[in-house]
Amino acid sequence: MAIDLDKKIIEESLQGNAYSLGRLITFLEDRVKRAQIVKEIEPHTGNAFVIGITGPPGVGKSTLINCLVTHFRSQGFSLGLLCIDPTSPISGGSLLGDRLRLEEHSLDPDVFIRSLPARDHLGGISPTSREVIKVLDASGKDIIIVESVGAGQTQFEIKKIVDTVVVVTVPGLGDSIQMLKAGLTEIADIFVLNKADREGADQAKRELEDAAFRYTGAWKPPVVPTVATRNEGVAELCDAVAGHRKFLQESGLMEEMRRQRNLDYTMELVLDLIKNEVERRLEENSKLKELMDKANRGTLDPWSAAGQIFERILDPRPGD
Ligand code: GDP
Repeated sequence: MAIDLDKKIIEESLQGNAYSLGRLITFLEDRVKRAQIVKEIEPHTGNAFVIGITGPPGVGKSTLINCLVTHFRSQGFSLGLLCIDPTSPISGGSLLGDRLRLEEHSLDPDVFIRSLPARDHLGGISPTSREVIKVLDASGKDIIIVESVGAGQTQFEIKKIVDTVVVVTVPGLGDSIQMLKAGLTEIADIFVLNKADREGADQAKRELEDAAFRYTGAWKPPVVPTVATRNEGVAELCDAVAGHRKFLQESGLMEEMRRQRNLDYTMELVLDLIKNEVERRLEENSKLKELMDKANRGTLDPWSAAGQIFERILDPRPGD
């Protein structure tokens, strides 16, 4: 019965049913269902284009995303929006709706919004983020926008799961210099200089263009000034995204990137399976527990304890 229900939810999600899609994404929390879901939807993936939006808090990412959604919707594209927030507690759609100022899109059946905490990976991107992207892709969304909120690893990790990274900054406060120092510029495929209505916009634009010029790859990131609150520069940003997409397709990089992503994902799953197995054995095996206890009490150093546990897991003794 449960299996039939799951199948129905998968089928309805593949047809783009928002209610089922929401439930399916929640099912990804369950380890057993998760594997089943990803296997079933995998053949339907690979059509969506995935855009990552990152940058320091307050630069106008949510305002800009709202403009992008309006623009892409006017062109007839359906959208999935994901917000990866390492600081947020367990997911809440309302939180994201709030953050993204997306009230006007929340009733649109062709815009699906979800917030994801980056659990487990200390600010990194969890395998679930990849899977939610796959589910949205399989459901027929043309464009998926992934916003990474807050500072930290997520900003860099986003590169691993999206096709085009848009790094947003603003003039003044030395933001662009700070970004350069933080290495954030290295992951940019496109720079957005938002709040271009502010003083210092011209200088900030030049700084970003300098940074883009120093890129050694075949793609030099364009710098797009925007005023998100006035919807200015949004069409230009969409053109820049389309330009990067074309570059990825024509250079063969898109295919290479997606292959690499599958490899990374497989490796993450392997590590995840190993981690779970190790945890299970530590829980069940008194000898292994004893070694952990010794490390805990300080009677055995952590390296020796870990080494002995590892050996014993690889080569179990009778009774283990
Ligand atoms: P986020 O934290 O990066 O998502 O930033 P928000 O989208 O929440 O925007 C932060 C603040 O900047 C809000 O008060 C916006 O109204 C304002 N803002 C966004 N874009 C612009 C812009 O282009 N010009 C100006 N002057 N303010 C903007």
